[in-house]
Amino acid sequence: MSRNDPIDISMPLSSVMPIWPGSPGFSRSMLLHPDQGDAVVNSAVSMDIHVGTHVDAPSHHDPGAATVDELPLSSFIGPATVVQIDETCGVVTGDVLESAVGPSAPARLLLRTANSERQILKDPEFQPDFVALDPSGAAWVAAHGVLLIGIDYLSIQQFSSSNDTHKMLFDAGVVVLEGLDLADCAPGDYTLVSLPIHLPGAEASPVRAILLPNEAT
Ligand SMILES: [Zn+2]
Repeated sequence: MSRNDPIDISMPLSSVMPIWPGSPGFSRSMLLHPDQGDAVVNSAVSMDIHVGTHVDAPSHHDPGAATVDELPLSSFIGPATVVQIDETCGVVTGDVLESAVGPSAPARLLLRTANSERQILKDPEFQPDFVALDPSGAAWVAAHGVLLIGIDYLSIQQFSSSNDTHKMLFDAGVVVLEGLDLADCAPGDYTLVSLPIHLPGAEASPVRAILLPNEAT
């Protein structure tokens, strides 16, 4: 891979991947196959749309709020910064962000935490002690005009926490990407290219997300 090749930060969708407790996960079944005498291969997928790399829409927590097709596509594409959060940090607070990011926040902020060091996105067993953003972190993100926040495990908020983190981000119009594989991605500035699929009325969508390294100057 040359240093200017895109970096795929999406999780491969399969029946062997970490999923939220209670989720049916992902499966793919064959509809047609030449082995069965069919002319072509054709398969069907079944999945919870919060499986793998995905975006949550505000309607995930408030059925009357914006759905995934109503999110601004411009938030999903453009300059993005992968910020390393200290490996010893178990929760990303506003103070943690202030020291990791500095006074001016990037438009798109991707948090590379101890989740990446632990490679827990590659472990099929769900790990409830993942690092995530607390409400003070969400307040910091909202106050700094961030368009999009991304995290390297399956939820932006801690397991078994209140939904305040999600709600504060949604109230501020921040797009939330979850399940980003940042393990092989160095901290720094990139161009993010990510898009939800077009699912009118849905509360989430799978996303294919890549980072384009910025041209060396
Ligand atoms: Zn979700």
